[in-house]
Amino acid sequence: VRRAKRYPTAASEATSVIMRSNYRRDTGPEERVRALLWRARLRYRKDFAIRVGSTRTRPDVAFPGRRIAVFIDGCFWHACPRHGTDPRHNAWYWGPKLLRNRSRDRAVTRALRGAGWTVLRFWEHVPAEQAAAAILGHHRRRSRADARCR
Ligand SMILES: [Zn+2]
Repeated sequence: VRRAKRYPTAASEATSVIMRSNYRRDTGPEERVRALLWRARLRYRKDFAIRVGSTRTRPDVAFPGRRIAVFIDGCFWHACPRHGTDPRHNAWYWGPKLLRNRSRDRAVTRALRGAGWTVLRFWEHVPAEQAAAAILGHHRRRSRADARCR
C-alpha cells in the first residue's frame, strides 16, 4: 500500500467530473450564465473587485451600478448539500477546507449585504437558464428602485 502521497482519490466518477469542471475556469456554469445574460442584453462586469472593510471578493457577475453581486458556487468546493458531501471518503483532506470555504462564503455575503449589495448565490447544479432568469428579475427590480430615487 502506497501511503506517501496523501492526495485525495475521487470518491466516485461524479465527484471527479465535478472536480475537473472546477479546474477549468470560464468554461463552467458561470460562463453559461454569463452567456445568457449577455444575450438578454445585460451588461455585467466579470472579475469586478469589491472591497468592504477587510473583505475582498470578485463575484462571477457584478452590476456595480445596481450593486448586485452574483456568485455561482461550485457544488464541490462550496459543499452543496446535494453534491458537496460526496467526497466523504477523503474527509481528512476536504473537510476543513470545505468548511473554511463555506464560512468564507457566509462572511462575504454578510459583508456585501451590510454595504448595500444584493447578493445572489446559485449552486452550479442550478440550470443556467433558471439562474439567469432570477438575476434578470433582480436586475429589473433594482433599476425600478433606482428610478424612484431620482
Ligand atoms: Zn450541487
